[in-house]
Amino acid sequence: MESKKVILLRYGEIFLKGKNRNLFEKKLIENIKKSLTGVNYTFIRTQNRYYIEDYEECLQEEIIDRVTKVFGLHSLSVALKIKTSYDALKEAILQFAPEKGTFRVSTKRADKSLDKNSMQISAMLGGYILSQNSQLSVDLYYPQKEINVDIRENGYSYIFSDKIDCAQGMPVGTAGRGMLLLSGGFDSPVAGYRMARRGMQIYGVHYHSYPHTSEMAQQKVIDLAGKLTKYCGDIKLFVVKFTDIQQAIHEYCREDYMITIMRRIMVEIAEKLAIENKCGALITGESLAQVASQTTRSITVTNDAVKTLPVFRPLIGMDKYEIMDTAEKIDTYAISQLPYEDCCTVFLPKNPVIKPDLQIAIKEQARIKSLDKMIEEAINTVEILDIKCEL
Ligand code: ATP
Ligand code: MG
Repeated sequence: MESKKVILLRYGEIFLKGKNRNLFEKKLIENIKKSLTGVNYTFIRTQNRYYIEDYEECLQEEIIDRVTKVFGLHSLSVALKIKTSYDALKEAILQFAPEKGTFRVSTKRADKSLDKNSMQISAMLGGYILSQNSQLSVDLYYPQKEINVDIRENGYSYIFSDKIDCAQGMPVGTAGRGMLLLSGGFDSPVAGYRMARRGMQIYGVHYHSYPHTSEMAQQKVIDLAGKLTKYCGDIKLFVVKFTDIQQAIHEYCREDYMITIMRRIMVEIAEKLAIENKCGALITGESLAQVASQTTRSITVTNDAVKTLPVFRPLIGMDKYEIMDTAEKIDTYAISQLPYEDCCTVFLPKNPVIKPDLQIAIKEQARIKSLDKMIEEAINTVEILDIKCEL
């Protein structure tokens, strides 16, 4: 029997799309192909599935690892592709039969030239499996294992059983672009992952206070962005020199308002960079009540410094354990855990205000001499890094 292993991909939520489904599919296929850069294979698109075929079998695990991270796919199965004939189907299906327990064969038949219908083929193949192993029994309603047989019009059939979950969500690039405020902590990479999962392309902005923060701290952020590219695709990372501004905050502003004002200036710069670079939203890793700068009042005062763009805070209702679990899953945990200081930890006030007052914040911020100039300078001297998905 001539047979080969192929990978069958099923897409997820875009199934619900109407007339514009094709646009989403186009992007999804583009992203799948991008994720498989460097691999030789054939891509086949049918009405509601895709197949990856003709790859070297030793690359199968690698291919699965890559495509399970492409947003927009729901699940995949490794299938056996054979030339359709009853004998070949019988021989192939034994490879999927369990050793014991219950099973069911489910057949879909697009090839109408066969003399049996789907039900009859399922019954024939189920009977054949039973004839080979008396420890098995058929359960049509709650089988322990379902074996699927898909008989296509083109003379080929696919047999598969187990499903592997993919990343779900929407294809990256179908929901515009967002500017992620990316620190070295646990939260912001997870926030970027969450928005990319809804189809946003991700750009990042990071503020550093060199020489108060080290090169290592910046490398940590570059490495985090690198991990994210497996899900988000390539990321443009804007690295902003924040030292002068932080020093000025330290010099001119009330100590307990320092973090509040720092946050306001961060989002102001982020919004300007976002608009310049055609991003439609800011994204942060804030989670309600996690720290003093993430109370409702603090968020109100920070948000006031953003003029037009929406600020997406996908972690706002998540608790730290859930966030850490996701960080583990997307492999950013080990990097975020490294001890390098963030610019927020430089000049840290002992008692940051928990319920800041907007008017006080505005007044304190206005004390900073030539702040507008410093902001302009920070934007003009921004360093832009292209973080590519390294496979
Ligand atoms: P994280 O774990 O993401 O660092 P956190 O719990 O440490 O978050 P904060 O430090 O208060 O919380 O930061 C809140 C959000 O502000 C971060 O999630 C991130 O989006 C943004 N942010 C903080 N520091 C920086 C920075 N140095 N550069 C860019 N964005 C930052
Ligand atoms: Mg932080």
